Amino acid sequence: RPTPMHSIDPTTGETFATYDTLTPEQIEDRLQRAQTAFGTYRLTTFAQRAEWMARAGELLHERKHELAALATREMGKTLAAALAEVEKCAKSCQYYAQNAEKFLADEHVTTEAERAYVTYQPLGVVLAVMPWNFPYWQVFRFIGPAIMAGNVGLLKHASNVPGCALAIESVMQQAGFPQDVFQTLLVGSRSIEAILKDDRVKAVSLTGSEGAGRSVAGTAGAAIKPSVMELGGSDPFIVMPSADLDLAVKTAVTARTINNGQSCIAAKRFIVHEAIYDRFVNGFVDGLAALTLGDPMQDTTDIGPLATPAIRDEVHGLVQDAVQKGATVLLGGQIPQGQGNYYPATALSDLTPDMQVYGEEVFGPVALIFRVPDQQEAIRVANATRFGLGSSAWTNDDAERARFARDLEAGSVFINSMVASDPRLPFGGVKASGFGRELSRHGIHEFVNTKTVSIG
Ligand code: NDP
Repeated sequence: RPTPMHSIDPTTGETFATYDTLTPEQIEDRLQRAQTAFGTYRLTTFAQRAEWMARAGELLHERKHELAALATREMGKTLAAALAEVEKCAKSCQYYAQNAEKFLADEHVTTEAERAYVTYQPLGVVLAVMPWNFPYWQVFRFIGPAIMAGNVGLLKHASNVPGCALAIESVMQQAGFPQDVFQTLLVGSRSIEAILKDDRVKAVSLTGSEGAGRSVAGTAGAAIKPSVMELGGSDPFIVMPSADLDLAVKTAVTARTINNGQSCIAAKRFIVHEAIYDRFVNGFVDGLAALTLGDPMQDTTDIGPLATPAIRDEVHGLVQDAVQKGATVLLGGQIPQGQGNYYPATALSDLTPDMQVYGEEVFGPVALIFRVPDQQEAIRVANATRFGLGSSAWTNDDAERARFARDLEAGSVFINSMVASDPRLPFGGVKASGFGRELSRHGIHEFVNTKTVSIG
């Protein structure tokens, strides 16, 4: 039989649940069921889909304590953060229940024909390959638009969150969606290639690391199937002299440590103008030092453990490499004693391009701090990465704002606030952070056939 999947508590290393993974025969059965479900689901009305999607939103709200505790137990985010995540999913379901029909309304075009219009039709079975860091939100960000558009979903979730993966399937079934419109496949990443190549699967959405993205986008490209890639980031957080410094400091602390530092859009590189450098850095380091590292179930905890021992090893390896090459440790940098994958809030300065942290995404609560003399250099440092997901810039100068909005190589620029996803706004990146967009009107247009109909 294939290797089972385990739920492992990141605070203790204890395995608290084990799940069988699917055999090749079971995968074949699931694919066939998905294909069959599409045959009828594609003919349902927006009103009917909206009723089910709104019910899924209500169920998320009703089941939030159970769902949040499961996420905390499987991947270590604080319970407060997990509760907020489930509520965000509920809102996103309501948003697409209310707006999908409008986003996909036929568009009439005047041509020489008697009548011409553009209509948006579902593609069929869409595979979602998802990560553990926001085990519900990453998936519901896919579900809202893809399922409201009339597609059928297959979820291959990260192997360390099988409980969350099955819980999502149960929410969708309980909401009333027809059998097999949304199925969770408990399979390892080695099964993805064959599933994606199967003729019954029409497209793929992946959120995860650059390596996973390269592999899955490559398979999709070879099979000529559309894909959306939401990959890593090393977002800049730029602070200029005109900024509201107290607010910038406070937000910087949150922006780096959100989700125990494991977010693709966490601010990772703090690029600070020299005129306010000392004041910003002192406040920022004090703010990080005041955070409580500990049991994610406790409401006094700000930072829980990292999701797996491998992630912590990777984070610590990057910090040690930087320190060996001359970085200054302003805070943290040591693995605490005792069990659990804990890593403290850490701040590094005096960073140089030969250090691995300079080019890699650091998926843990480690802040990289840079001093710059002017806006031009701030933009140069911000863009000196192969990633281009989000960016945050702090300034009250109109000309500086316009230049950041124009010149930062990123899928989003947030002025005077931290980067955050919002169902109303498109989300995605450029460069090695991926392509395609999730959320908003743009997200629902990714997995549809934009069909031209011309009559007479
Ligand atoms: P991965 O990218 O490895 O995992 C994300 C998903 O992709 C999982 O479902 C995983 O399955 C699958 N996957 C992994 N490798 C492949 C592959 N070669 N081909 C097809 N699918 C694959 O993320 P990790 O959990 O390993 O985290 C590692 C790094 O990824 C982090 O340090 C961070 O830099 C980045 N990351 C970025 C995220 C983002 O939101 N942008 C989210 C999570 C991670 P399985 O679990 O079975 O391996």
